[in-house]
Amino acid sequence: MAGSLPKAGSRWSLGRPLDFRHGRVEMSHGAGGRATTQLVETLFQTALGDMGTQTGDDGAVLPPLAPGERLVMACDGHVVSPLFFPGGDIGCLAAHGTINDVAVMGARPLYLTASFILEEGFPLADLQRVAVSLGRACRDAGVAVVAGDTKVVERGKGDGVFIATTGVGALPAGRNIGGRQARPGDAILISGTVGEHGLAILAQREHLQFASEIVSDTAPLHTLIDALLAAAPGVHVMRDPTRGGLATVLNEIARQSGVGIDLDEAVIPVRADVAAACELLGLDPLYAANEGKVVVVVRAAEADAALAALRAHPLGRQATRIGTVIEDPQGFVQMRTRMGGRRLVDWLTGEQLPRIC
Ligand code: MG
Repeated sequence: MAGSLPKAGSRWSLGRPLDFRHGRVEMSHGAGGRATTQLVETLFQTALGDMGTQTGDDGAVLPPLAPGERLVMACDGHVVSPLFFPGGDIGCLAAHGTINDVAVMGARPLYLTASFILEEGFPLADLQRVAVSLGRACRDAGVAVVAGDTKVVERGKGDGVFIATTGVGALPAGRNIGGRQARPGDAILISGTVGEHGLAILAQREHLQFASEIVSDTAPLHTLIDALLAAAPGVHVMRDPTRGGLATVLNEIARQSGVGIDLDEAVIPVRADVAAACELLGLDPLYAANEGKVVVVVRAAEADAALAALRAHPLGRQATRIGTVIEDPQGFVQMRTRMGGRRLVDWLTGEQLPRIC
Protein backbone atom coordinates (compact mmCIF):
# COMPACT_ATOMS: atom_id res chain seq x y z
CA MET A 1 0.00 0.00 0.00
CA ALA A 2 1.46 3.36 -1.01
CA GLY A 3 1.60 6.44 1.22
CA SER A 4 3.72 7.51 4.15
CA LEU A 5 4.12 4.91 6.83
CA PRO A 6 4.31 5.92 10.49
CA LYS A 7 7.80 6.29 11.94
CA ALA A 8 8.94 3.44 14.12
CA GLY A 9 7.62 3.91 17.61
CA SER A 10 4.97 6.45 16.63
CA ARG A 11 1.32 5.73 17.34
CA TRP A 12 -0.54 4.54 14.23
CA SER A 13 -4.03 5.89 14.69
CA LEU A 14 -6.79 5.22 12.19
CA GLY A 15 -8.82 8.23 13.29
CA ARG A 16 -12.48 8.09 14.22
CA PRO A 17 -13.96 4.58 14.15
CA LEU A 18 -16.18 3.49 11.27
CA ASP A 19 -19.89 4.02 11.90
CA PHE A 20 -21.32 0.69 10.78
CA ARG A 21 -24.89 1.78 11.46
CA HIS A 22 -25.13 5.07 9.63
CA GLY A 23 -21.81 5.39 7.82
CA ARG A 24 -21.44 5.32 4.07
CA VAL A 25 -18.67 4.58 1.62
CA GLU A 26 -16.63 7.71 0.93
CA MET A 27 -14.18 8.40 -1.87
CA SER A 28 -11.37 8.34 0.70
CA HIS A 29 -12.12 4.65 1.37
CA GLY A 30 -10.64 3.90 -2.03
CA ALA A 31 -7.77 6.36 -1.92
CA GLY A 32 -5.24 3.99 -0.40
CA GLY A 33 -4.63 6.07 2.72
CA ARG A 34 -5.76 5.83 6.32
CA ALA A 35 -9.46 5.50 5.43
CA THR A 36 -8.74 2.55 3.13
CA THR A 37 -6.64 0.84 5.77
CA GLN A 38 -9.36 1.45 8.32
CA LEU A 39 -12.01 -0.08 6.03
CA VAL A 40 -9.80 -3.06 5.23
CA GLU A 41 -8.78 -3.70 8.83
CA THR A 42 -12.08 -3.11 10.60
CA LEU A 43 -14.55 -4.35 8.02
CA PHE A 44 -12.99 -6.67 5.43
CA GLN A 45 -10.42 -8.51 7.51
CA THR A 46 -12.94 -9.14 10.26
CA ALA A 47 -15.54 -10.36 7.78
CA LEU A 48 -13.28 -12.40 5.54
CA GLY A 49 -11.34 -14.11 8.27
CA ASP A 50 -7.85 -15.38 7.85
CA MET A 51 -6.93 -13.38 4.76
CA GLY A 52 -3.44 -13.52 3.38
CA THR A 53 -3.80 -9.75 3.11
CA GLN A 54 -3.55 -9.56 6.88
CA THR A 55 0.19 -9.61 6.34
CA GLY A 56 -0.26 -6.19 4.72
CA ASP A 57 1.82 -7.27 1.73
CA ASP A 58 0.94 -6.77 -1.93
CA GLY A 59 0.38 -10.45 -2.64
CA ALA A 60 -0.29 -13.76 -0.95
CA VAL A 61 2.42 -16.41 -0.76
CA LEU A 62 0.82 -19.85 -1.13
CA PRO A 63 2.25 -23.25 -0.23
CA PRO A 64 3.20 -25.72 -3.00
CA LEU A 65 0.69 -28.27 -4.27
CA ALA A 66 1.07 -32.00 -3.75
CA PRO A 67 3.27 -33.75 -6.34
CA GLY A 68 1.47 -34.19 -9.67
CA GLU A 69 -1.30 -31.75 -8.88
CA ARG A 70 -1.98 -28.86 -11.26
CA LEU A 71 -3.41 -25.43 -10.54
CA VAL A 72 -6.87 -24.48 -11.76
CA MET A 73 -7.85 -20.82 -11.82
CA ALA A 74 -11.22 -19.26 -12.59
CA CYS A 75 -12.33 -15.64 -12.53
CA ASP A 76 -15.75 -14.16 -12.21
CA GLY A 77 -17.39 -10.72 -11.98
CA HIS A 78 -20.56 -10.24 -9.94
CA VAL A 79 -23.03 -7.46 -10.73
CA VAL A 80 -26.28 -9.03 -9.53
CA SER A 81 -29.23 -6.70 -8.95
CA PRO A 82 -30.73 -6.60 -6.36
CA LEU A 83 -27.77 -7.17 -4.04
CA PHE A 84 -29.92 -9.06 -1.52
CA PHE A 85 -32.43 -11.67 -2.65
CA PRO A 86 -34.27 -14.68 -1.21
CA GLY A 87 -31.69 -17.35 -0.49
CA GLY A 88 -28.59 -15.16 -0.69
CA ASP A 89 -26.81 -11.97 -1.65
CA ILE A 90 -23.98 -10.81 -3.89
CA GLY A 91 -21.41 -11.86 -1.26
CA CYS A 92 -22.21 -15.56 -0.96
CA LEU A 93 -23.08 -15.66 -4.68
CA ALA A 94 -19.58 -14.40 -5.53
CA ALA A 95 -18.02 -17.09 -3.34
CA HIS A 96 -20.24 -19.93 -4.57
CA GLY A 97 -20.00 -19.01 -8.25
CA THR A 98 -16.22 -18.98 -8.16
CA ILE A 99 -15.87 -22.09 -5.99
CA ASN A 100 -18.21 -23.92 -8.38
CA ASP A 101 -16.24 -22.91 -11.49
CA VAL A 102 -13.14 -24.45 -9.92
CA ALA A 103 -15.02 -27.52 -8.65
CA VAL A 104 -16.61 -28.39 -12.01
CA MET A 105 -13.10 -28.65 -13.46
CA GLY A 106 -12.62 -31.54 -11.03
CA ALA A 107 -10.34 -29.44 -8.81
CA ARG A 108 -10.37 -28.98 -5.04
CA PRO A 109 -11.13 -25.29 -4.36
CA LEU A 110 -8.47 -23.75 -2.10
CA TYR A 111 -8.21 -19.98 -2.40
CA LEU A 112 -10.23 -16.97 -3.44
CA THR A 113 -9.38 -13.36 -4.15
CA ALA A 114 -12.05 -10.68 -4.01
CA SER A 115 -11.93 -7.20 -5.49
CA PHE A 116 -14.71 -4.87 -4.33
CA ILE A 117 -15.75 -1.96 -6.56
CA LEU A 118 -17.81 0.29 -4.28
CA GLU A 119 -20.03 3.24 -5.11
CA GLU A 120 -19.64 6.39 -3.05
CA GLY A 121 -22.58 6.62 -0.62
CA PHE A 122 -23.17 2.86 -0.33
CA PRO A 123 -24.18 2.10 3.29
CA LEU A 124 -21.37 0.53 5.32
CA ALA A 125 -23.96 -1.69 7.01
CA ASP A 126 -24.83 -3.25 3.65
CA LEU A 127 -21.17 -3.59 2.73
CA GLN A 128 -20.56 -5.35 6.03
CA ARG A 129 -23.45 -7.76 5.37
CA VAL A 130 -22.05 -8.57 1.94
CA ALA A 131 -18.50 -9.07 3.19
CA VAL A 132 -19.61 -11.22 6.14
CA SER A 133 -21.69 -13.35 3.76
CA LEU A 134 -18.77 -13.82 1.36
CA GLY A 135 -16.44 -14.67 4.25
CA ARG A 136 -18.87 -17.15 5.77
CA ALA A 137 -19.46 -18.88 2.42
CA CYS A 138 -15.71 -19.30 1.93
CA ARG A 139 -15.11 -20.56 5.48
CA ASP A 140 -17.98 -23.05 5.14
CA ALA A 141 -16.35 -24.34 1.95
CA GLY A 142 -12.86 -24.49 3.47
CA VAL A 143 -11.64 -21.84 1.03
CA ALA A 144 -9.30 -19.08 2.25
CA VAL A 145 -9.67 -15.51 1.01
CA VAL A 146 -6.00 -14.77 0.42
CA ALA A 147 -6.06 -11.36 -1.27
CA GLY A 148 -8.47 -8.51 -1.72
CA ASP A 149 -8.77 -5.02 -3.10
CA THR A 150 -11.10 -2.07 -2.64
CA LYS A 151 -11.82 0.71 -5.09
CA VAL A 152 -14.45 3.43 -4.87
CA VAL A 153 -16.18 5.10 -7.81
CA GLU A 154 -18.20 8.32 -7.60
CA ARG A 155 -21.87 8.35 -6.72
CA GLY A 156 -23.94 7.37 -9.77
CA LYS A 157 -21.03 5.59 -11.49
CA GLY A 158 -21.56 2.19 -9.86
CA ASP A 159 -24.51 0.35 -8.36
CA GLY A 160 -23.65 -0.15 -4.71
CA VAL A 161 -21.08 -2.91 -5.00
CA PHE A 162 -19.59 -5.09 -7.71
CA ILE A 163 -17.28 -7.97 -6.77
CA ALA A 164 -14.60 -9.49 -8.99
CA THR A 165 -13.24 -12.81 -7.77
CA THR A 166 -10.55 -15.30 -8.67
CA GLY A 167 -10.71 -18.89 -7.53
CA VAL A 168 -7.73 -21.22 -7.26
CA GLY A 169 -7.90 -24.96 -6.86
CA ALA A 170 -5.78 -28.11 -7.08
CA LEU A 171 -6.45 -30.64 -9.83
CA PRO A 172 -5.40 -34.20 -8.96
CA ALA A 173 -2.90 -35.90 -11.27
CA GLY A 174 -4.50 -37.63 -14.26
CA ARG A 175 -7.90 -35.97 -13.96
CA ASN A 176 -9.12 -34.61 -17.30
CA ILE A 177 -12.61 -33.14 -17.21
CA GLY A 178 -13.73 -30.53 -19.71
CA GLY A 179 -16.22 -29.46 -22.34
CA ARG A 180 -14.40 -31.26 -25.15
CA GLN A 181 -14.67 -34.70 -23.55
CA ALA A 182 -18.33 -35.57 -24.30
CA ARG A 183 -18.68 -38.73 -26.42
CA PRO A 184 -21.70 -40.25 -28.23
CA GLY A 185 -23.46 -42.62 -25.86
CA ASP A 186 -22.58 -40.65 -22.71
CA ALA A 187 -25.41 -39.99 -20.26
CA ILE A 188 -26.38 -36.42 -19.33
CA LEU A 189 -27.39 -35.77 -15.72
CA ILE A 190 -28.56 -32.68 -13.85
CA SER A 191 -28.08 -32.56 -10.08
CA GLY A 192 -31.51 -31.07 -9.34
CA THR A 193 -34.33 -28.75 -10.31
CA VAL A 194 -33.57 -25.89 -12.70
CA GLY A 195 -34.37 -22.18 -12.77
CA GLU A 196 -34.69 -21.19 -9.09
CA HIS A 197 -31.92 -18.58 -9.00
CA GLY A 198 -33.07 -16.76 -12.12
CA LEU A 199 -36.70 -16.66 -11.02
CA ALA A 200 -35.81 -15.66 -7.44
CA ILE A 201 -33.87 -12.65 -8.75
CA LEU A 202 -36.54 -11.71 -11.23
CA ALA A 203 -39.34 -11.93 -8.65
CA GLN A 204 -37.38 -9.78 -6.20
CA ARG A 205 -36.42 -7.23 -8.82
CA GLU A 206 -39.89 -6.85 -10.28
CA HIS A 207 -41.69 -7.15 -6.90
CA LEU A 208 -43.63 -10.15 -8.17
CA GLN A 209 -45.64 -12.11 -5.61
CA PHE A 210 -46.16 -15.80 -6.17
CA ALA A 211 -48.05 -18.25 -3.96
CA SER A 212 -44.72 -19.33 -2.45
CA GLU A 213 -41.46 -17.40 -2.36
CA ILE A 214 -38.96 -18.70 -4.90
CA VAL A 215 -35.56 -18.99 -3.23
CA SER A 216 -32.19 -18.95 -4.99
CA ASP A 217 -30.39 -22.30 -5.04
CA THR A 218 -26.97 -20.66 -4.50
CA ALA A 219 -24.65 -23.25 -2.91
CA PRO A 220 -21.07 -24.55 -3.12
CA LEU A 221 -20.95 -27.77 -5.15
CA HIS A 222 -17.51 -29.14 -4.34
CA THR A 223 -18.58 -31.77 -1.78
CA LEU A 224 -21.33 -32.99 -4.11
CA ILE A 225 -18.74 -33.23 -6.88
CA ASP A 226 -16.29 -35.07 -4.60
CA ALA A 227 -18.93 -37.71 -3.92
CA LEU A 228 -19.79 -37.92 -7.62
CA LEU A 229 -16.19 -38.41 -8.77
CA ALA A 230 -15.52 -41.02 -6.08
CA ALA A 231 -18.43 -43.07 -7.43
CA ALA A 232 -17.98 -42.31 -11.13
CA PRO A 233 -14.39 -41.54 -12.12
CA GLY A 234 -15.49 -41.71 -15.78
CA VAL A 235 -17.12 -38.29 -15.68
CA HIS A 236 -16.23 -36.52 -18.93
CA VAL A 237 -17.73 -33.05 -18.47
CA MET A 238 -19.14 -31.01 -15.59
CA ARG A 239 -20.49 -27.49 -15.81
CA ASP A 240 -22.61 -25.28 -13.57
CA PRO A 241 -25.56 -23.96 -15.57
CA THR A 242 -25.49 -20.34 -14.38
CA ARG A 243 -26.28 -17.45 -16.71
CA GLY A 244 -28.08 -18.81 -19.80
CA GLY A 245 -29.22 -21.89 -17.89
CA LEU A 246 -29.23 -25.57 -18.78
CA ALA A 247 -29.93 -24.97 -22.49
CA THR A 248 -26.91 -22.72 -22.91
CA VAL A 249 -24.52 -25.06 -21.11
CA LEU A 250 -25.64 -28.03 -23.21
CA ASN A 251 -25.13 -26.04 -26.41
CA GLU A 252 -21.64 -25.07 -25.23
CA ILE A 253 -20.73 -28.69 -24.53
CA ALA A 254 -22.18 -29.90 -27.87
CA ARG A 255 -20.17 -27.27 -29.71
CA GLN A 256 -16.92 -27.91 -27.81
CA SER A 257 -17.13 -31.68 -28.26
CA GLY A 258 -18.60 -31.70 -31.80
CA VAL A 259 -21.53 -33.89 -30.73
CA GLY A 260 -25.30 -33.67 -30.57
CA ILE A 261 -27.45 -33.87 -27.47
CA ASP A 262 -30.83 -35.53 -27.16
CA LEU A 263 -32.96 -34.39 -24.21
CA ASP A 264 -36.22 -35.63 -22.73
CA GLU A 265 -38.30 -32.63 -21.59
CA ALA A 266 -40.65 -34.70 -19.43
CA VAL A 267 -37.89 -35.72 -17.02
CA ILE A 268 -36.08 -32.38 -16.63
CA PRO A 269 -36.79 -31.46 -12.99
CA VAL A 270 -38.48 -28.07 -12.49
CA ARG A 271 -40.16 -27.03 -9.24
CA ALA A 272 -43.90 -26.39 -9.63
CA ASP A 273 -43.57 -22.76 -8.44
CA VAL A 274 -40.76 -22.07 -10.91
CA ALA A 275 -42.72 -23.68 -13.74
CA ALA A 276 -45.79 -21.62 -12.88
CA ALA A 277 -43.80 -18.37 -12.67
CA CYS A 278 -42.12 -19.12 -16.01
CA GLU A 279 -45.49 -19.81 -17.60
CA LEU A 280 -46.84 -16.52 -16.30
CA LEU A 281 -43.83 -14.51 -17.47
CA GLY A 282 -43.34 -16.27 -20.79
CA LEU A 283 -39.92 -17.59 -19.76
CA ASP A 284 -38.35 -20.97 -20.39
CA PRO A 285 -36.84 -22.58 -17.24
CA LEU A 286 -34.22 -24.23 -19.45
CA TYR A 287 -32.65 -20.78 -19.96
CA ALA A 288 -33.00 -19.53 -16.37
CA ALA A 289 -29.90 -19.28 -14.19
CA ASN A 290 -28.91 -21.76 -11.48
CA GLU A 291 -26.23 -21.23 -8.84
CA GLY A 292 -26.21 -24.59 -7.07
CA LYS A 293 -26.61 -27.18 -9.82
CA VAL A 294 -24.21 -29.15 -11.97
CA VAL A 295 -24.65 -30.75 -15.39
CA VAL A 296 -22.72 -34.00 -15.64
CA VAL A 297 -21.75 -35.89 -18.81
CA VAL A 298 -20.62 -39.37 -17.85
CA ARG A 299 -19.84 -42.71 -19.51
CA ALA A 300 -23.13 -44.64 -19.83
CA ALA A 301 -21.70 -47.55 -17.82
CA GLU A 302 -21.23 -45.24 -14.81
CA ALA A 303 -24.48 -43.30 -15.13
CA ASP A 304 -26.32 -45.25 -12.44
CA ALA A 305 -23.44 -45.02 -9.96
CA ALA A 306 -23.16 -41.28 -10.66
CA LEU A 307 -26.88 -40.74 -10.11
CA ALA A 308 -26.85 -42.71 -6.88
CA ALA A 309 -23.91 -40.68 -5.56
CA LEU A 310 -25.60 -37.38 -6.46
CA ARG A 311 -28.89 -38.40 -4.85
CA ALA A 312 -27.16 -39.45 -1.64
CA HIS A 313 -25.94 -35.84 -1.15
CA PRO A 314 -28.25 -33.12 0.24
CA LEU A 315 -27.62 -30.91 -2.83
CA GLY A 316 -28.36 -33.71 -5.31
CA ARG A 317 -31.53 -35.37 -4.03
CA GLN A 318 -33.41 -34.66 -7.24
CA ALA A 319 -30.63 -35.58 -9.61
CA THR A 320 -32.00 -36.97 -12.88
CA ARG A 321 -30.76 -38.44 -16.13
CA ILE A 322 -32.14 -36.01 -18.71
CA GLY A 323 -30.59 -37.09 -21.97
CA THR A 324 -27.87 -38.69 -24.05
CA VAL A 325 -24.96 -37.50 -26.15
CA ILE A 326 -25.45 -38.46 -29.80
CA GLU A 327 -23.43 -38.24 -32.97
CA ASP A 328 -24.04 -34.93 -34.72
CA PRO A 329 -21.14 -32.96 -36.17
CA GLN A 330 -23.43 -29.92 -36.36
CA GLY A 331 -23.73 -29.87 -32.58
CA PHE A 332 -27.49 -29.54 -32.24
CA VAL A 333 -29.27 -29.90 -28.91
CA GLN A 334 -32.66 -31.43 -29.56
CA MET A 335 -35.45 -32.41 -27.21
CA ARG A 336 -38.36 -34.82 -27.15
CA THR A 337 -41.14 -32.55 -25.88
CA ARG A 338 -43.78 -33.41 -23.32
CA MET A 339 -46.31 -33.49 -26.17
CA GLY A 340 -44.31 -36.16 -27.96
CA GLY A 341 -42.87 -33.90 -30.67
CA ARG A 342 -39.28 -32.83 -31.17
CA ARG A 343 -37.74 -29.37 -31.08
CA LEU A 344 -34.36 -27.74 -31.18
CA VAL A 345 -33.08 -26.24 -27.95
CA ASP A 346 -31.13 -23.34 -29.40
CA TRP A 347 -28.59 -20.94 -27.93
CA LEU A 348 -30.04 -18.11 -25.92
CA THR A 349 -30.38 -15.08 -28.16
CA GLY A 350 -30.21 -11.64 -26.60
CA GLU A 351 -30.54 -11.30 -22.85
CA GLN A 352 -33.35 -13.05 -21.05
CA LEU A 353 -32.51 -11.78 -17.57
CA PRO A 354 -29.75 -9.17 -17.25
CA ARG A 355 -27.58 -8.89 -14.13
CA ILE A 356 -28.58 -12.26 -12.78
CA CYS A 357 -25.18 -13.02 -11.20
MG1 MG B 1 -19.37 -21.96 -14.72
